[in-house]
Amino acid sequence: MACPRSKAADQLKEYATNVEKCPVDALTASTGMTIDSKLQSLTVGPRGPLLMQDFVFTDEMAHFNRERIPERVVHAKGGGAKGYFEVTHDITKYCKAKVFESVGKRTPVAVRFSTVGGESGSADTARDPRGFAVKFYTEEGNWDLVGNNTPIFFIRDPIFFPSFIHTQKRNPQTHLKDPDMFWDFITLRPETTHQVSFLFSDRGTPDGYRFMNGYGSHTFKMVNKAGEAIYVKFHFKCDQGIKNLMADKADELAGSDPDYANRDLFNAIADGNFPSWTLKIQVMTFEEAEKFRWNPFDLTKIWPQAEFPLIPVGKMVLNENPKNYFADVEQIAFAPSHMVPGIEPSPDKMLQGRLFSYPDTHRHRLGTNYMQIPINCPYRTRVKNYQRDGPQNVTDNQGNAPNYYPNSFHGPRDGLERGDSQPNQSTFNVSGDVKRYSSKDDDNFSQVATFVTKVLSADERKRLAENIAGHVKDAQPFLQERVIKQWGQAQSSLGDLIKSLIEDHKKAKM
Ligand code: NDP
Repeated sequence: MACPRSKAADQLKEYATNVEKCPVDALTASTGMTIDSKLQSLTVGPRGPLLMQDFVFTDEMAHFNRERIPERVVHAKGGGAKGYFEVTHDITKYCKAKVFESVGKRTPVAVRFSTVGGESGSADTARDPRGFAVKFYTEEGNWDLVGNNTPIFFIRDPIFFPSFIHTQKRNPQTHLKDPDMFWDFITLRPETTHQVSFLFSDRGTPDGYRFMNGYGSHTFKMVNKAGEAIYVKFHFKCDQGIKNLMADKADELAGSDPDYANRDLFNAIADGNFPSWTLKIQVMTFEEAEKFRWNPFDLTKIWPQAEFPLIPVGKMVLNENPKNYFADVEQIAFAPSHMVPGIEPSPDKMLQGRLFSYPDTHRHRLGTNYMQIPINCPYRTRVKNYQRDGPQNVTDNQGNAPNYYPNSFHGPRDGLERGDSQPNQSTFNVSGDVKRYSSKDDDNFSQVATFVTKVLSADERKRLAENIAGHVKDAQPFLQERVIKQWGQAQSSLGDLIKSLIEDHKKAKM
């Protein structure tokens, strides 16, 4: 275990030092009753048996039995921190959200980084996208930007999401990760090629959470005070610079220090070495979107930066470690549907699917009242509505105020009734035939070709091929053939290289 005497290793010592001058608290049961003896259970005679009336024991044991909440189906392993976002550039011509209203304005944030496919105890250095989720506590309510360290994703239609994730998880019989499942899906759905190329490049194993970019990934809408809307993409550029782990180092760390990324983040912040990211946006008008040569709402594609240049917006700094992991990180619940006036969804099908599925999974994992949990509470505004009751309601349940709307008894009123001059939501026009549209044969390779030939250096391209071959070597030969063909469509020499590397693996095995 990599445990030098870092701030993380000394956490308990530091706690004790900080509080040693305060009187020691009395130990209590969950009811608040003080406990006179907690070092032995209540028994009949010194050898037992135990008594059911030992509330000190049953109170703690019953709570212990319920300590785990369901882990996230995806993004189960993660770390987090708090900090602030500060506006450095004026973008009010694009967006009326108060979070951007003036240069210098600071908004508190909470952030969670994660891997995607592994369980909550899995290794931080696995080859996997990294979740990059930011909760902005604005005075208009919470805005969550729930992205990844990649500007794109594997699929563009959310109907594939459960199946796709199953292929990243465990085989239903063996309970092992299964390269056949993985490569079968990837090669049956060619739109995955771009993201899989990112995943098997050096950026697939970032050096912890501090040295990677974050992206909102989806296309969103920004709306200004005049009600004018544009499409937008968000980029958090890492101020520490990009740093990745080479595949063999990542593998080694998975065994020697599976919590590498969490430890690194905690220690950096505890040492006052606060990580930061510069937020930039790309914008596209509705007219440009109509004419764009790709579907601008396709999550497997980027917007080229030469055509849609990055516009600086602000800086996010993480300067506070969680006080309690469960309270601040395990219970934090992000959802792309948590938006504020001025930020709206685009037609991106993946985003539309996530608008539903994130709050849905939180209601399962944390309960209907998950927004009342302190880390999720939109504490910079006042929640006033007609939602009532449900398990674990920990507020006054909005007291004796009316619980139906409309009402004549001074309950909270919506903007229209209050006579707001402008609606929160912009007006937009949608029309089209209702149908299940296949996008399988959309252009799946042009951007992969640009990435492979123009963005990656020769060395990086070679490592991409090695990483793909090193994984697909364990899949069935027919799947290897498909992989060679698929990456050959991006660059024929890349397909050839993957082929020869797979053959090398076969020879080495003989
Ligand atoms: P640009 O040359 O303007 O941008 C290339 C982008 O690639 C930069 O944002 C850079 O991000 C990123 N990049 C550089 N090295 C690597 C690497 N080793 N692995 C992954 N990403 C890297 O070109 P375009 O905008 O026209 O995009 C060309 C291709 O670059 C795309 O097809 C896509 O594959 C990839 N890309 C594009 C992004 C975008 O939003 N346009 C973002 C990331 C990748 P950084 O500045 O952080 O180093």
